[in-house]
Amino acid sequence: MDATLKPCPVCGSQAELKEAHYLESERPYSYVHCTNEACTLNHNAPHFSNSTEAKNDQDAITAWNQRLETPALHH
Ligand SMILES: [Zn+2]
Repeated sequence: MDATLKPCPVCGSQAELKEAHYLESERPYSYVHCTNEACTLNHNAPHFSNSTEAKNDQDAITAWNQRLETPALHH
């Protein structure tokens, strides 16, 4: 798996892959966000939860590196 993350497209800070679970369902999701807390992409990261954790990771990384405009989901 290619886990190389491009720097944040907004501020150029380092990006970080995170894994978590939805509290209600324990369904795993992954997201990539900017590590700069002042950046809009620090809090506005889309969640990827449609597959296994490994696939979610890959989807999140791919989306970040392609800078896809995916609306953030809040559950
Ligand atoms: Zn940023």
